[in-house]
Amino acid sequence: MENILPADKYKFKRKLEELKAVKGQHTELISLYIPPNKQISDVVAQLRDEYSQSSNIKSKQTRKNVLSAIESIMSQLRYYKTPPPHGMVFFVGEGAKSGEQPKMMSEVIEPPMPVPIYLYRCDSQFYLEPLEEMLEEKDVYGLLLIDRRECTIGFLSGRKIEMAAYLTSRVPGKHGRGGQSQRRFERLTEIAAHEWFVKAGKKASELFLEKDNLKGVLVGGPGPTKRAFLNQNYLDYRIADKIIGIYDTGYTDEYGLKELVNNAANDLEELDIIKEKRVMNRFMEEVRSDKGLAIYGENEVKRALEMGAVDTLILSDALRRYKIKISCPSCGYSGEMVVDDTENIKCPECSSSVIIEDKKDILEEYSDMADQSSTKVEIISKDTEEGNILMKAFGGIAGILRYRIE
Ligand code: ZN
Repeated sequence: MENILPADKYKFKRKLEELKAVKGQHTELISLYIPPNKQISDVVAQLRDEYSQSSNIKSKQTRKNVLSAIESIMSQLRYYKTPPPHGMVFFVGEGAKSGEQPKMMSEVIEPPMPVPIYLYRCDSQFYLEPLEEMLEEKDVYGLLLIDRRECTIGFLSGRKIEMAAYLTSRVPGKHGRGGQSQRRFERLTEIAAHEWFVKAGKKASELFLEKDNLKGVLVGGPGPTKRAFLNQNYLDYRIADKIIGIYDTGYTDEYGLKELVNNAANDLEELDIIKEKRVMNRFMEEVRSDKGLAIYGENEVKRALEMGAVDTLILSDALRRYKIKISCPSCGYSGEMVVDDTENIKCPECSSSVIIEDKKDILEEYSDMADQSSTKVEIISKDTEEGNILMKAFGGIAGILRYRIE
Protein backbone atom coordinates (compact mmCIF):
# COMPACT_ATOMS: atom_id res chain seq x y z
CA MET A 1 0.00 0.00 0.00
CA GLU A 2 3.06 2.29 -0.21
CA ASN A 3 1.76 4.61 -2.90
CA ILE A 4 -1.67 5.19 -1.44
CA LEU A 5 -2.48 8.47 0.26
CA PRO A 6 -2.91 8.03 4.02
CA ALA A 7 -6.40 9.50 3.90
CA ASP A 8 -7.48 7.03 1.19
CA LYS A 9 -5.97 4.13 3.07
CA TYR A 10 -7.80 5.28 6.16
CA LYS A 11 -11.14 5.58 4.35
CA PHE A 12 -10.70 2.13 2.91
CA LYS A 13 -9.89 0.72 6.33
CA ARG A 14 -12.87 2.41 7.93
CA LYS A 15 -15.20 1.15 5.20
CA LEU A 16 -14.05 -2.40 5.86
CA GLU A 17 -14.67 -1.93 9.58
CA GLU A 18 -18.22 -0.81 8.86
CA LEU A 19 -18.92 -3.75 6.56
CA LYS A 20 -17.47 -6.16 9.09
CA ALA A 21 -19.99 -4.98 11.68
CA VAL A 22 -22.94 -5.89 9.43
CA LYS A 23 -24.75 -9.15 10.07
CA GLY A 24 -27.56 -10.76 8.14
CA GLN A 25 -30.31 -12.60 9.95
CA HIS A 26 -29.85 -15.50 7.58
CA THR A 27 -27.55 -16.44 4.74
CA GLU A 28 -28.43 -13.42 2.69
CA LEU A 29 -25.43 -11.13 2.39
CA ILE A 30 -23.72 -11.31 -0.97
CA SER A 31 -20.04 -10.57 -1.55
CA LEU A 32 -18.95 -10.54 -5.16
CA TYR A 33 -15.26 -10.07 -6.06
CA ILE A 34 -14.57 -9.13 -9.67
CA PRO A 35 -10.90 -8.94 -10.71
CA PRO A 36 -9.86 -6.38 -13.36
CA ASN A 37 -9.52 -8.91 -16.19
CA LYS A 38 -12.92 -10.57 -15.69
CA GLN A 39 -15.54 -10.28 -18.44
CA ILE A 40 -18.66 -8.56 -17.14
CA SER A 41 -20.78 -10.87 -19.32
CA ASP A 42 -19.34 -13.91 -17.51
CA VAL A 43 -20.22 -12.36 -14.18
CA VAL A 44 -23.79 -11.66 -15.31
CA ALA A 45 -24.12 -15.24 -16.56
CA GLN A 46 -23.07 -16.59 -13.18
CA LEU A 47 -25.43 -14.24 -11.37
CA ARG A 48 -28.34 -15.53 -13.50
CA ASP A 49 -27.37 -19.01 -12.46
CA GLU A 50 -27.20 -18.04 -8.77
CA TYR A 51 -30.54 -16.32 -9.19
CA SER A 52 -32.29 -19.43 -10.41
CA GLN A 53 -30.69 -21.57 -7.70
CA SER A 54 -31.69 -19.06 -5.04
CA SER A 55 -35.31 -19.39 -6.14
CA ASN A 56 -35.23 -22.71 -4.27
CA ILE A 57 -34.43 -21.16 -0.88
CA LYS A 58 -37.10 -22.39 1.51
CA SER A 59 -37.57 -19.38 3.76
CA LYS A 60 -39.73 -16.89 1.93
CA GLN A 61 -38.11 -13.83 3.50
CA THR A 62 -34.55 -15.02 2.89
CA ARG A 63 -35.39 -15.98 -0.70
CA LYS A 64 -36.86 -12.56 -1.35
CA ASN A 65 -33.82 -10.81 0.15
CA VAL A 66 -31.28 -12.87 -1.76
CA LEU A 67 -33.11 -12.47 -5.06
CA SER A 68 -33.40 -8.73 -4.69
CA ALA A 69 -29.70 -8.49 -3.75
CA ILE A 70 -28.74 -10.35 -6.93
CA GLU A 71 -31.10 -8.17 -8.98
CA SER A 72 -29.50 -5.08 -7.48
CA ILE A 73 -25.99 -6.23 -8.49
CA MET A 74 -27.12 -7.15 -12.01
CA SER A 75 -28.71 -3.77 -12.55
CA GLN A 76 -25.58 -1.97 -11.29
CA LEU A 77 -23.38 -4.07 -13.59
CA ARG A 78 -25.21 -2.66 -16.60
CA TYR A 79 -23.18 0.51 -16.19
CA TYR A 80 -19.89 -1.30 -16.67
CA LYS A 81 -18.46 -2.45 -20.00
CA THR A 82 -15.33 -3.70 -18.22
CA PRO A 83 -14.30 -3.73 -14.57
CA PRO A 84 -12.45 -0.65 -13.25
CA PRO A 85 -8.60 -0.72 -13.29
CA HIS A 86 -8.36 -2.57 -9.96
CA GLY A 87 -11.59 -4.50 -10.39
CA MET A 88 -14.43 -4.11 -7.91
CA VAL A 89 -16.23 -5.76 -5.06
CA PHE A 90 -19.98 -5.71 -4.40
CA PHE A 91 -21.42 -6.06 -0.92
CA VAL A 92 -25.18 -6.27 -1.12
CA GLY A 93 -27.91 -7.61 1.12
CA GLU A 94 -30.37 -7.13 3.90
CA GLY A 95 -28.34 -6.65 7.06
CA ALA A 96 -27.71 -4.50 10.11
CA LYS A 97 -25.14 -3.53 12.67
CA SER A 98 -26.04 -4.76 16.12
CA GLY A 99 -28.90 -2.79 17.61
CA GLU A 100 -30.00 -1.35 14.28
CA GLN A 101 -32.98 -2.23 12.13
CA PRO A 102 -32.07 -4.46 9.15
CA LYS A 103 -32.10 -2.68 5.84
CA MET A 104 -31.02 -3.30 2.28
CA MET A 105 -27.40 -2.25 1.89
CA SER A 106 -25.35 -1.95 -1.23
CA GLU A 107 -21.69 -0.98 -1.49
CA VAL A 108 -19.34 -1.14 -4.44
CA ILE A 109 -15.69 -0.90 -3.55
CA GLU A 110 -12.90 -0.19 -5.98
CA PRO A 111 -9.95 -1.18 -3.82
CA PRO A 112 -6.52 0.49 -3.84
CA MET A 113 -4.90 -2.71 -5.12
CA PRO A 114 -6.10 -5.17 -7.78
CA VAL A 115 -8.80 -7.62 -6.70
CA PRO A 116 -6.91 -10.94 -6.63
CA ILE A 117 -9.77 -13.41 -7.11
CA TYR A 118 -13.15 -13.94 -8.71
CA LEU A 119 -15.59 -15.03 -6.05
CA TYR A 120 -19.32 -15.08 -5.33
CA ARG A 121 -20.37 -15.76 -1.76
CA CYS A 122 -23.69 -15.65 0.01
CA ASP A 123 -23.37 -15.80 3.79
CA SER A 124 -24.70 -14.24 7.00
CA GLN A 125 -21.81 -11.77 6.91
CA PHE A 126 -19.76 -10.08 4.23
CA TYR A 127 -16.57 -11.81 3.16
CA LEU A 128 -13.76 -9.27 3.64
CA GLU A 129 -10.50 -11.20 4.02
CA PRO A 130 -9.05 -10.48 0.55
CA LEU A 131 -9.55 -6.74 1.13
CA GLU A 132 -8.28 -6.87 4.70
CA GLU A 133 -5.13 -8.53 3.46
CA MET A 134 -4.44 -5.48 1.30
CA LEU A 135 -4.10 -3.45 4.50
CA GLU A 136 -1.62 -5.73 6.16
CA GLU A 137 2.00 -4.73 6.24
CA LYS A 138 3.80 -7.44 4.39
CA ASP A 139 7.36 -6.59 5.36
CA VAL A 140 8.81 -7.78 8.61
CA TYR A 141 12.10 -6.74 10.18
CA GLY A 142 13.96 -8.86 12.68
CA LEU A 143 15.25 -7.15 15.82
CA LEU A 144 18.14 -8.54 17.84
CA LEU A 145 19.64 -7.09 21.01
CA ILE A 146 22.63 -8.71 22.58
CA ASP A 147 25.28 -8.25 25.22
CA ARG A 148 26.97 -10.70 27.54
CA ARG A 149 24.02 -10.88 29.92
CA GLU A 150 20.83 -10.60 27.87
CA CYS A 151 19.47 -11.23 24.43
CA THR A 152 16.10 -10.04 23.17
CA ILE A 153 14.68 -11.06 19.82
CA GLY A 154 11.69 -9.35 18.28
CA PHE A 155 9.94 -8.21 15.13
CA LEU A 156 8.90 -4.93 13.60
CA SER A 157 5.95 -5.21 11.26
CA GLY A 158 4.04 -2.13 10.22
CA ARG A 159 3.80 -0.15 13.42
CA LYS A 160 3.96 -3.12 15.71
CA ILE A 161 7.05 -3.98 17.67
CA GLU A 162 6.76 -7.33 19.35
CA MET A 163 9.07 -9.38 21.48
CA ALA A 164 9.57 -12.99 20.38
CA ALA A 165 12.14 -14.25 22.87
CA TYR A 166 14.16 -13.09 25.86
CA LEU A 167 17.23 -15.03 27.02
CA THR A 168 19.67 -14.47 29.86
CA SER A 169 23.20 -15.79 30.10
CA ARG A 170 25.33 -17.30 32.83
CA VAL A 171 28.44 -15.54 31.69
CA PRO A 172 30.19 -14.17 34.81
CA GLY A 173 31.25 -10.52 34.97
CA LYS A 174 34.54 -9.54 33.35
CA HIS A 175 36.60 -9.36 36.50
CA GLY A 176 37.57 -12.33 38.55
CA ARG A 177 38.89 -12.45 42.07
CA GLY A 178 42.45 -11.83 40.93
CA GLY A 179 45.52 -13.85 41.91
CA GLN A 180 46.53 -17.14 40.38
CA SER A 181 43.07 -18.19 39.34
CA GLN A 182 42.69 -15.10 37.12
CA ARG A 183 43.76 -16.80 33.88
CA ARG A 184 41.65 -19.83 34.57
CA PHE A 185 38.73 -17.55 35.38
CA GLU A 186 39.15 -15.72 32.09
CA ARG A 187 39.27 -18.92 30.15
CA LEU A 188 36.07 -20.18 31.77
CA THR A 189 34.43 -16.83 31.11
CA GLU A 190 35.32 -17.03 27.43
CA ILE A 191 33.95 -20.54 27.18
CA ALA A 192 30.71 -19.44 28.86
CA ALA A 193 30.49 -16.43 26.50
CA HIS A 194 30.99 -18.66 23.48
CA GLU A 195 28.22 -20.98 24.66
CA TRP A 196 25.98 -17.98 25.28
CA PHE A 197 26.55 -16.59 21.79
CA VAL A 198 25.90 -20.00 20.24
CA LYS A 199 22.62 -20.27 22.12
CA ALA A 200 21.49 -16.70 21.31
CA GLY A 201 22.57 -16.96 17.67
CA LYS A 202 20.74 -20.25 17.25
CA LYS A 203 17.52 -18.92 18.77
CA ALA A 204 17.60 -15.70 16.71
CA SER A 205 18.37 -17.56 13.48
CA GLU A 206 15.56 -20.01 14.13
CA LEU A 207 12.98 -17.31 14.78
CA PHE A 208 14.09 -15.11 11.88
CA LEU A 209 14.19 -17.98 9.38
CA GLU A 210 10.57 -18.82 10.19
CA LYS A 211 9.46 -15.54 8.58
CA ASP A 212 9.41 -15.88 4.82
CA ASN A 213 8.83 -12.13 4.39
CA LEU A 214 11.78 -11.00 6.47
CA LYS A 215 13.05 -7.83 4.83
CA GLY A 216 16.01 -7.09 7.06
CA VAL A 217 17.57 -7.43 10.49
CA LEU A 218 18.57 -4.71 12.95
CA VAL A 219 21.12 -5.50 15.61
CA GLY A 220 21.65 -3.48 18.77
CA GLY A 221 23.09 -3.47 22.25
CA PRO A 222 25.45 -1.44 24.42
CA GLY A 223 29.20 -1.61 23.85
CA PRO A 224 31.25 -3.75 21.48
CA THR A 225 29.71 -7.18 22.26
CA LYS A 226 27.20 -7.08 19.41
CA ARG A 227 29.96 -6.58 16.84
CA ALA A 228 32.07 -9.38 18.30
CA PHE A 229 28.97 -11.58 18.15
CA LEU A 230 28.39 -10.74 14.49
CA ASN A 231 32.03 -10.99 13.47
CA GLN A 232 32.28 -14.51 14.84
CA ASN A 233 29.36 -15.72 12.71
CA TYR A 234 27.03 -16.94 15.41
CA LEU A 235 24.07 -16.10 13.15
CA ASP A 236 22.96 -18.29 10.27
CA TYR A 237 24.52 -16.89 7.07
CA ARG A 238 21.03 -16.34 5.54
CA ILE A 239 20.20 -14.04 8.45
CA ALA A 240 23.62 -12.38 8.53
CA ASP A 241 23.06 -11.41 4.87
CA LYS A 242 19.98 -9.47 5.87
CA ILE A 243 21.55 -7.21 8.48
CA ILE A 244 20.67 -3.61 7.64
CA GLY A 245 22.54 -1.94 10.43
CA ILE A 246 24.15 -2.18 13.85
CA TYR A 247 23.09 0.36 16.46
CA ASP A 248 24.05 1.33 19.98
CA THR A 249 21.25 0.97 22.50
CA GLY A 250 21.27 1.42 26.26
CA TYR A 251 19.09 -1.60 26.88
CA THR A 252 19.01 -5.21 25.78
CA ASP A 253 15.52 -6.01 27.07
CA GLU A 254 12.06 -5.35 25.65
CA TYR A 255 12.47 -1.61 26.10
CA GLY A 256 15.61 -1.81 23.98
CA LEU A 257 13.53 -2.99 20.99
CA LYS A 258 11.86 0.44 20.75
CA GLU A 259 15.19 2.12 21.21
CA LEU A 260 16.64 0.01 18.42
CA VAL A 261 13.85 0.96 15.99
CA ASN A 262 14.21 4.65 16.88
CA ASN A 263 17.94 4.55 16.34
CA ALA A 264 17.49 2.83 12.99
CA ALA A 265 15.01 5.49 11.82
CA ASN A 266 17.26 6.88 9.10
CA ASP A 267 17.70 3.48 7.53
CA LEU A 268 14.00 2.67 7.61
CA GLU A 269 12.68 5.95 6.22
CA GLU A 270 9.85 4.48 4.21
CA LEU A 271 8.20 2.67 7.10
CA ASP A 272 4.93 4.10 8.39
CA ILE A 273 6.07 3.97 11.99
CA ILE A 274 9.05 6.17 11.18
CA LYS A 275 7.06 8.64 9.06
CA GLU A 276 4.49 8.99 11.83
CA LYS A 277 7.13 9.53 14.49
CA ARG A 278 8.72 12.23 12.36
CA VAL A 279 5.43 14.08 11.93
CA MET A 280 4.61 13.89 15.63
CA ASN A 281 8.11 15.01 16.63
CA ARG A 282 7.76 18.03 14.38
CA PHE A 283 4.39 18.83 15.94
CA MET A 284 5.69 18.40 19.51
CA GLU A 285 8.61 20.69 18.74
CA GLU A 286 6.14 23.33 17.60
CA VAL A 287 4.10 22.86 20.76
CA ARG A 288 7.20 23.41 22.88
CA SER A 289 8.41 26.45 20.96
CA ASP A 290 6.36 29.61 21.26
CA LYS A 291 6.09 30.39 17.57
CA GLY A 292 2.37 29.67 17.71
CA LEU A 293 2.41 27.26 14.78
CA ALA A 294 1.00 24.23 16.59
CA ILE A 295 -2.77 23.98 16.81
CA TYR A 296 -5.17 21.33 18.03
CA GLY A 297 -8.81 20.73 18.82
CA GLU A 298 -11.71 20.45 16.40
CA ASN A 299 -12.75 24.08 16.28
CA GLU A 300 -9.34 25.65 16.14
CA VAL A 301 -8.14 23.30 13.41
CA LYS A 302 -11.33 23.78 11.42
CA ARG A 303 -10.98 27.56 11.52
CA ALA A 304 -7.35 27.39 10.41
CA LEU A 305 -8.26 25.01 7.56
CA GLU A 306 -10.94 27.39 6.37
CA MET A 307 -8.33 30.16 6.27
CA GLY A 308 -6.00 27.91 4.26
CA ALA A 309 -3.35 28.39 6.95
CA VAL A 310 -2.56 24.75 7.71
CA ASP A 311 0.64 23.24 6.35
CA THR A 312 0.18 19.77 7.83
CA LEU A 313 -3.04 18.34 9.21
CA ILE A 314 -2.51 15.56 11.76
CA LEU A 315 -5.37 13.18 12.47
CA SER A 316 -5.59 10.14 14.72
CA ASP A 317 -6.99 6.99 13.18
CA ALA A 318 -8.66 6.33 16.54
CA LEU A 319 -11.14 9.15 15.95
CA ARG A 320 -14.67 7.85 15.84
CA ARG A 321 -16.71 10.96 15.25
CA TYR A 322 -19.26 11.85 12.66
CA LYS A 323 -20.68 15.02 11.26
CA ILE A 324 -24.37 14.44 10.63
CA LYS A 325 -27.19 16.35 9.00
CA ILE A 326 -30.43 15.79 10.84
CA SER A 327 -34.03 16.69 10.40
CA CYS A 328 -36.83 16.37 12.93
CA PRO A 329 -40.15 14.99 11.74
CA SER A 330 -41.93 16.35 14.85
CA CYS A 331 -40.96 20.02 14.93
CA GLY A 332 -39.35 20.49 11.53
CA TYR A 333 -35.90 21.36 12.93
CA SER A 334 -32.97 20.69 10.63
CA GLY A 335 -29.28 21.22 11.19
CA GLU A 336 -25.80 19.73 11.55
CA MET A 337 -24.05 18.27 14.55
CA VAL A 338 -20.91 16.35 15.43
CA VAL A 339 -21.42 13.15 17.41
CA ASP A 340 -19.46 10.10 18.62
CA ASP A 341 -22.26 7.72 17.95
CA THR A 342 -25.10 7.99 15.48
CA GLU A 343 -27.51 5.87 17.51
CA ASN A 344 -30.48 7.46 19.28
CA ILE A 345 -29.93 11.05 18.22
CA LYS A 346 -32.50 13.39 19.72
CA CYS A 347 -33.74 16.68 18.31
CA PRO A 348 -32.06 19.63 20.11
CA GLU A 349 -35.36 21.54 19.99
CA CYS A 350 -38.00 19.00 21.00
CA SER A 351 -36.04 15.86 21.98
CA SER A 352 -37.90 13.59 19.53
CA SER A 353 -36.00 11.05 17.46
CA VAL A 354 -34.54 12.58 14.33
CA ILE A 355 -33.86 11.38 10.80
CA ILE A 356 -30.17 11.32 9.80
CA GLU A 357 -30.07 12.80 6.30
CA ASP A 358 -26.34 12.60 5.85
CA LYS A 359 -23.44 11.12 7.79
CA LYS A 360 -19.79 11.88 7.23
CA ASP A 361 -16.77 10.60 9.11
CA ILE A 362 -15.12 13.58 10.80
CA LEU A 363 -11.76 12.43 9.54
CA GLU A 364 -13.05 12.51 5.99
CA GLU A 365 -14.60 15.91 6.59
CA TYR A 366 -11.27 17.35 7.73
CA SER A 367 -9.17 15.69 5.07
CA ASP A 368 -11.55 16.99 2.38
CA MET A 369 -11.14 20.51 3.76
CA ALA A 370 -7.38 20.00 3.72
CA ASP A 371 -7.43 18.99 0.05
CA GLN A 372 -8.98 22.33 -0.85
CA SER A 373 -5.99 24.26 0.48
CA SER A 374 -3.34 21.71 -0.54
CA THR A 375 -2.62 20.91 3.05
CA LYS A 376 -0.68 17.71 3.69
CA VAL A 377 -2.69 15.14 5.61
CA GLU A 378 -1.00 12.73 8.01
CA ILE A 379 -2.96 9.96 9.66
CA ILE A 380 -1.35 8.69 12.83
CA SER A 381 -2.06 5.24 14.15
CA LYS A 382 -3.03 4.96 17.79
CA ASP A 383 -0.79 1.92 18.17
CA THR A 384 2.34 3.97 18.85
CA GLU A 385 3.29 6.08 21.85
CA GLU A 386 3.10 9.22 19.70
CA GLY A 387 -0.31 8.21 18.38
CA ASN A 388 -1.53 7.71 21.91
CA ILE A 389 -0.37 11.21 22.89
CA LEU A 390 -2.12 12.70 19.85
CA MET A 391 -5.40 11.10 20.85
CA LYS A 392 -5.23 11.60 24.61
CA ALA A 393 -3.57 15.01 24.91
CA PHE A 394 -4.75 16.71 21.72
CA GLY A 395 -8.12 15.10 21.03
CA GLY A 396 -6.92 13.40 17.86
CA ILE A 397 -7.01 16.49 15.65
CA ALA A 398 -3.96 18.73 15.33
CA GLY A 399 -2.01 20.71 12.81
CA ILE A 400 1.10 22.69 12.02
CA LEU A 401 0.42 26.12 10.54
CA ARG A 402 2.07 27.79 7.58
CA TYR A 403 1.98 31.11 9.41
CA ARG A 404 0.81 32.34 12.73
CA ILE A 405 -2.86 33.27 13.04
CA GLU A 406 -4.68 35.12 15.81
ZN1 ZN B 1 -37.77 18.46 16.93
